[in-house]
Amino acid sequence: MSTRAARPSKPGRQLSAVVTAGPTREYVDPVRYLSNESSGRMGFAIAAALVRRGVKVTLIAGPVVLSTPPGALRIDVVSAREMLAAVRKSFRSADLLVMSAAVADWRPARKLAGKWRKKDGGTQTTSLELTRNPDILASVARSKGQRLVMGFALETGDGERRAQAKLRRKNLDYIVLNDESALNAIRSSATILGRDGSRQGLARRSKEDIAEVLAELVTDKARAQGRATRGL
Ligand code: C5P
Repeated sequence: MSTRAARPSKPGRQLSAVVTAGPTREYVDPVRYLSNESSGRMGFAIAAALVRRGVKVTLIAGPVVLSTPPGALRIDVVSAREMLAAVRKSFRSADLLVMSAAVADWRPARKLAGKWRKKDGGTQTTSLELTRNPDILASVARSKGQRLVMGFALETGDGERRAQAKLRRKNLDYIVLNDESALNAIRSSATILGRDGSRQGLARRSKEDIAEVLAELVTDKARAQGRATRGL
């Protein structure tokens, strides 16, 4: 499978994009946290593919061990609330958002100042109170106007129906559906569902290949929306 060659950027105004990647970490105490298996590879590959298309990219990354794609401006964050603040600020002046981060849905209701000791719980079981994290994507997409927003959905079972519902509920232009085999993997399968009714399946491709397809799709669509908005 060959990687699609990036097309040189078209003349005209430079597009700017915000891409999120990786997991978030929600601390229980100074040394323990809730998180997930996301490696950040998909988002970093999308950021690199967008830079190759001439897009100005702000890459907002959770804790990952990846090097920054040359040409992208990287902002490191840890928790979902930090990611929300960074996305809000960066998206103000951007044309598009690709939200590929695996944001933790919950955080501990309190972060303990000292280490959570065994004696703080019961002898056999204990519990941890959790608070819902903000939905970053839904909250910024609500007021996106003509800007383009792409989300991701990692689903098991009948994922397509749930992803379609998310596409509408979160006011997205596109949603990329993966299954759990995508987590921390080199290859992945993906289905791209569009608000316009489009559907594209990509089976067992490298994340770099998928990133090229996604970067081409969002830049073409954002340019077309920009032209329509300016009445060109
Ligand atoms: O609802 P669900 O978590 O499946 O939605 C996944 C999409 O929403 C991803 O694009 C993810 O980055 C985003 N998300 C978010 N904030 C959350 C949870 C998910 O932005 N708290």
